Amino acid sequence: MALWITDECINCDVCEPECPNQAISMGAEIYEIDPDRCTECVGHFDEPQCVQVCPVSCIPVNPQRVETKAQLLDKYRVLQAGAAPPSAPSASSPPPR
Ligand code: SF4
Ligand code: SF4
Repeated sequence: MALWITDECINCDVCEPECPNQAISMGAEIYEIDPDRCTECVGHFDEPQCVQVCPVSCIPVNPQRVETKAQLLDKYRVLQAGAAPPSAPSASSPPPR
């Protein structure tokens, strides 16, 4: 699964530079994760780096973006190759609260 940032985000800026896939950016009000670029850090690290550094623990997994570790690894390889990642249905909206 990709991860997503909830509205508990305090815009502390800590996670953005830690992402190895440049998946995190400032959105309209809070930071956002591009699910087409988030591999849960698969291919780079054993643990999601943004989750490790977030001081308010507001980065859960996105249940609308279910992916196996193999799929995340494929996404990582596509990103490393510099190609556009494949699109997936319901990719951009966070799950309802
Ligand atoms: S889990 Fe890893 S790849 Fe996904 S947004 Fe966080 S730091 Fe980036
Ligand atoms: S580390 Fe957490 S609180 Fe800080 S900007 Fe990222 S998601 Fe928001």
